[in-house]
Amino acid sequence: MSAERSSTDPSRRRLLGALGAASFATLLPVARARASRPLGVALVGLGYYSRDLLAPALQMTRHCRLAGIVTGTPAKAKEWQRRYRLPDRNVYDYDGFDRIADNPDIDVVYVVLPNHLHKPFTLRAAAVGKHVWCEKPMAMDAAEARAMIDACQHHRVQLAIGYRMQHEPNTQAVMALAASKPFGRLQRIRAEAGFRGFDGASPDNWRLDPARGGGAMYDMGVYALNAARYTAGAEPVAVTATQEIERTDLFRGVDETMRFRLEFPEGVIADGETSFGRNMNLLRADCADGWYELSPFQAYEGVRGEASDGRRFDAVIGATPAQQARQMDADALAILEKRAPRVPGEEGWRDMRVLDAIFASARAGGSRMEIAAG
Ligand code: NAD
Repeated sequence: MSAERSSTDPSRRRLLGALGAASFATLLPVARARASRPLGVALVGLGYYSRDLLAPALQMTRHCRLAGIVTGTPAKAKEWQRRYRLPDRNVYDYDGFDRIADNPDIDVVYVVLPNHLHKPFTLRAAAVGKHVWCEKPMAMDAAEARAMIDACQHHRVQLAIGYRMQHEPNTQAVMALAASKPFGRLQRIRAEAGFRGFDGASPDNWRLDPARGGGAMYDMGVYALNAARYTAGAEPVAVTATQEIERTDLFRGVDETMRFRLEFPEGVIADGETSFGRNMNLLRADCADGWYELSPFQAYEGVRGEASDGRRFDAVIGATPAQQARQMDADALAILEKRAPRVPGEEGWRDMRVLDAIFASARAGGSRMEIAAG
């Protein structure tokens, strides 16, 4: 995927078409009023996700644009400045980041760093009065997530979490079934998200480092956990979890595979699994009078599924990175319209508290952990 896409790129026009004239028509009054100034976004951390997905997506968005970068690598800064025509005044290093306070070009700081840095950079961005978008997993634990929410509330800025699946139309169709229940009482959920990776990886890779939020559960498991919660349309009351490590040379202090069972009210059970050792990508709900599933349920494109009554979940929004463009446009519009984003900090916090219980259960050899109502 080339990062260089101009506004005249035919794929951009295809994308805008695919995003749907109808949905944009409803947004037009605001879009027109704000057309002269889409929100300026600064990406913090210029690794894989920023480079290959978010920056190209920001060339497609209508309500926000790439306005600045924060990086620890001067050579990267130069390359990005050339590619995206970013002026010197909108380029920061991590130490000088807080000067962004005085920069009117930047409205939103998007934290795309290793997981242990999500909280400190969210707090710093909020403290200088910038809205925050933060990648998943929101934080290292629920206490950090709560501190991030409190800081953003205190400084009156928005906080949205980068759960892109919740902006994907087939996922949204499945989410709606939790309330409409066309197949009767929900009984069981299965949610699996994982891939085979890291053979021959450097031991310095942060995804293998416990101190920087490594391991499959933080990285891919949050998709399965989040999906279990939105498919149930409820919060789990208890969890049991076990972890498994095959490649003991690679996975030291972080999980390679995690299996977890969530108990929801009314006897609904969700079995979740995540792995860095095995490919898996399924979300399935079994109900009293039928079933539905998405597979893949977690992918940059091609999310699709079916149900026992023959219905299909096959909406197409365009090629990668259309999902990321939808997410950022929706989150930008929420800021412009002064309303809550679709995936606010609280949604990330709800996952983090379950995640805390999953890790606690796995550490305790699979003991059942109750999750306090909150
Ligand atoms: P990456 O390793 O490719 O990039 C991380 C960036 O952070 C690099 O530019 C690196 O230089 C910088 N960095 C700063 N301090 C660092 C430190 N102490 N250790 C390591 N790197 C440091 O990672 P990525 O794949 O871009 O992931 C970044 C974040 O984005 C993660 O939170 C990840 O979960 C999330 N992500 C989300 C999606 C999604 O689909 N929503 C996809 C990929 C990654």
